[in-house]
Amino acid sequence: MSRLATQMLCYLLLALAGAWFGAARAEAEAPPPIRVEFADVEFGAGERAAMQAMVEREYRKVVAFLGTGPHSPIEMRVTDWYRGEAVRVTTAYSWRGLVVIPSRVFRMGVMPTAHEIAHVVAGHGANQVLVEGLAVHVHGRFGEQPAFPNFRMSVAAALAQSLSRVAADSSGGTVPASDALALSIVERELGAGRTLSMVDVGNWLNDLDQPQRRRAAYLMAGSFVGYVVEDVLKGDMAAFMRIYRSGDYAGVTGQSLARLEAAWRIKIAAGG
Ligand SMILES: [Zn+2]
Repeated sequence: MSRLATQMLCYLLLALAGAWFGAARAEAEAPPPIRVEFADVEFGAGERAAMQAMVEREYRKVVAFLGTGPHSPIEMRVTDWYRGEAVRVTTAYSWRGLVVIPSRVFRMGVMPTAHEIAHVVAGHGANQVLVEGLAVHVHGRFGEQPAFPNFRMSVAAALAQSLSRVAADSSGGTVPASDALALSIVERELGAGRTLSMVDVGNWLNDLDQPQRRRAAYLMAGSFVGYVVEDVLKGDMAAFMRIYRSGDYAGVTGQSLARLEAAWRIKIAAGG
């Protein structure tokens, strides 16, 4: 080997070693992608470690499923106070990479952690139906604890139950047995000839005075997103994320929102 070649080989080896050490150091220093903090409540080390392990498992599944990651680490903070305000419900502050969870929800074991991870990982969406629908769909698939709005049930079964309750509220207390009947009673209340649309779902999502309708709206959003992802796009999450960011159903699926809603309505009326 010539002197020059030997020199070149030495430089190459040095560069490789430098890159290897640099990467190893970066890995050792990198913060975990998701971290649980207990701000002002006392829980045992075992409970804390179990929650940390659970959210790490969920995080890996959600990132793999969505095919995208957050720009910075996520903090899940169990706390009853945030910025001087009492924390009443679990809330994601996506833009800060922060999720706050009331200690009551932690204690009850009904944390929608995969739901909130989905909010932070997916980031800004075109509208609230897509944002909440994706989070409900994701928690239904990967969430380890039962959580609002479907708890232990499948989204489809919880939606059937929820529509029956909304129908019972508006029809004077009888709970219809069939999904189609419940749906028709709910739609009769909306007005003659109207079928349930994502506009109604969007309105009901924020109706805190009507908890049954609000829960139904979360379930309908989750059910609709599940229909678009699984039935229409056959699991193509990259395509779904284009809809998520743009709201352009027709551009991605070739079908208008109205057509998709009509097909989804037939599915839920049949209990799907
Ligand atoms: Zn949400």
